[in-house]
Amino acid sequence: MKSAIAKVVVDIALDREFDYRIPAHLATVLRIGSRVQVPFGSRTTQGYVVGLAESSPHPQLKEIGDVVSKQPLLTDKILELTRWMGRYYCCPVELCVKCALPEVVRKSKISWKERQFVRPVKLTLDDLAKLAKRAPKQFHALEILRKTDGMFVVQLCEQAGIDAAAIKVLAKKGFVELTDKVEERDPFGGEVFLPTEPLALMPDQVKSLALCIAAIDATICRSGVPAATGPTPTDHDGATASTSRTVPKPVLIHGVTGSGKTEIYLQAIEHALRHGKDSIVLVPEISLTPQTVERFRARFPQQQITVLHSHLSEGERHDQWHKIRAGQSHIVIGARSAVFAPVPALGLIVVDEEHETSYKQDEAPRYNARDVAVVRGKLECAAVVLGSATPAIESFYNAHHGRYVLSALPRRVDHRQMPVMRIVDMRQEVLRQKGLHVLSLRLRNAIEARLAKNEQVILFLNRRGYATHMFCPKCGYVAECPNCSVKLTYHRKAAQLACHLCGEIRPAPKVCPNPDCRDPAIRYSGMGTEKVEAAIQAAFPKARVQRMDSDIMTRKSLYREIFRDFRIGKIDILVGTQMIAKGLHFPNVTLVGIIYADMALHMPDFRAGERTFQLLVQVAGRAGRGDVEGEVVVQSFTPFHPAIQHARQHDYLGFYDQEIEFRQQLHYPPATRLVCLTVRAKTEEKAIFFSAALVRELRKHIAGTDLLSEATPAPLAKVQNNYRYQIIARSPQIMRLTEAIAKVVTSTKLPPDVTLAVDVDPVSLL
Ligand SMILES: [Zn+2]
Ligand SMILES: [Zn+2]
Repeated sequence: MKSAIAKVVVDIALDREFDYRIPAHLATVLRIGSRVQVPFGSRTTQGYVVGLAESSPHPQLKEIGDVVSKQPLLTDKILELTRWMGRYYCCPVELCVKCALPEVVRKSKISWKERQFVRPVKLTLDDLAKLAKRAPKQFHALEILRKTDGMFVVQLCEQAGIDAAAIKVLAKKGFVELTDKVEERDPFGGEVFLPTEPLALMPDQVKSLALCIAAIDATICRSGVPAATGPTPTDHDGATASTSRTVPKPVLIHGVTGSGKTEIYLQAIEHALRHGKDSIVLVPEISLTPQTVERFRARFPQQQITVLHSHLSEGERHDQWHKIRAGQSHIVIGARSAVFAPVPALGLIVVDEEHETSYKQDEAPRYNARDVAVVRGKLECAAVVLGSATPAIESFYNAHHGRYVLSALPRRVDHRQMPVMRIVDMRQEVLRQKGLHVLSLRLRNAIEARLAKNEQVILFLNRRGYATHMFCPKCGYVAECPNCSVKLTYHRKAAQLACHLCGEIRPAPKVCPNPDCRDPAIRYSGMGTEKVEAAIQAAFPKARVQRMDSDIMTRKSLYREIFRDFRIGKIDILVGTQMIAKGLHFPNVTLVGIIYADMALHMPDFRAGERTFQLLVQVAGRAGRGDVEGEVVVQSFTPFHPAIQHARQHDYLGFYDQEIEFRQQLHYPPATRLVCLTVRAKTEEKAIFFSAALVRELRKHIAGTDLLSEATPAPLAKVQNNYRYQIIARSPQIMRLTEAIAKVVTSTKLPPDVTLAVDVDPVSLL
């Protein structure tokens, strides 16, 4: 690529990019990801090349001084991946590069942590004897040190009970050698896990593992072995990749909850490791729990595993990333952005819970890590394994049409039964109990029965707070967020009204805030987890009840503590949001109650049914993981909705068939592809004006057969004082559509207070 201009992020002005001219002698060595020395103001600084361009709007650019790093931070393949992302997601490549390089690596504010290291040197017996007599403490330290190859000064001080000054004296005498050495910041603090052996597999698991292994084997170079059938990848420069490798189709494991998917991942990773291949395992951030990580750390050599998650300190993230780049880590586990982990010998990417919407980034580039994983697998000739108990409709559709290999695990391991799901019609319940209560009689009785047997209960409600809104029955006043078009949620313990969209918080009023009313009979209606907790505690005063949602998860360690307490039986009933819905394994949980199953159903989104089905099946999956049969009680006002009925039967295929028919009829993905453009402006007039202008411009470029909506207010019409208008574009050919949109977007000039978000394959249309 011939580029005259490099876009550089410099260390001393971290949030901006600057254009620099590329001198001829650096043109061949300079790449995106290169660390460079550049003039900045009156001095020289370092920075990273995050983009290349042919021209710059700025005249009189300075020249890049030099390329500092020999090895660019981005590999060729990841660079190619970011270019694909730029095209596919209609977004500048620089933004994609920023995703692939963590900030702490890109801006290098942080470096390796170096500490003083002390090594023993060869000494004569005479020297030692003298030292033993004159300085017994120093002699003692030396004795400890001589049993090792060296250690950090702080460690020796601690072990020998001396201070650093004494070690300096030893160094002066020539008895030890002092150097600086990099100390890796270990996020696990040296924690060691008991090693585990591979588990025996059930016949379904054996078949599934065989498919994964076949995919991995297809990617392994074997000299002398003729090429197997399948497409040959071509890399960006037109050179053909090694002919004895083939790109395998991604494997989609559709396994019911408790069917042992993780064990298959573990054994597939082990297979890759044996053949010198690295693996990346993606899990949703919310599932990246100590329990999950422990299973991996206990199976493989712990030095070779890296965990990337949002709680790492900057220093830890720096060290882990460079460890991966240097090829010292062969298994990387992480959330969304771990899909860019620069492992040198990628052989396998696992995407667990592939249907999870948290794989989609909600700011540009709005990529879905699952789909990026599939493309990365293609580019790097690596196996990709997707797993879920409730695959995304898109993924199952891909499997159905032969783009993915489907593997089904219809049974739980050890022949455990799927939990029995009972649906309670809350409309009947309101009549029976003369009003709406948190617990139906059936759920209440079920909890009582389980508590009597010393079994544990999980109650699920996907809404925080105490009441969903506050209203005045006298004048009809409803407390709404001043910045967003949503109602404020009442939090009783904090006595506050809070907006869950923008974070607006105000004290809860004691009388109606309407100046003409001021009635003290102000009421709260609807419910959140806080209210469920209170109702449960009132109904079962002896039970130990714990709530778990983001309101009370104020400390990082609390998550671990609550789960530990629950596992060892210190908690009887756990009440929580989706935080407790994912992948957790508690053998003593025999009852799961879903307080209000219809919440997601009423979202104005074509995926409402799919989300409801997934949530019910996933939450229900927490029941009956031990020896006792599990039971699920689902409370619903629309008990005959297909999503609820299919979930009750654990019937994914039935749900899929019905759902895909609906998507086909109404032209929704995966029957077609969809892009959502959202215009945001400070005034509604501006939002209307610019979104309408955008529609006119798009009509000129979009193929006649593709569908383009008019600009309409988004379901969340106002967020953080921004008015939002939406345009929906649909086409069976996504690249044709995104190319046309990119053309319009780059040529459209918007005023600074109007923004446009382009979301390709959106997971939500709110
Ligand atoms: Zn009022
Ligand atoms: Zn708000």
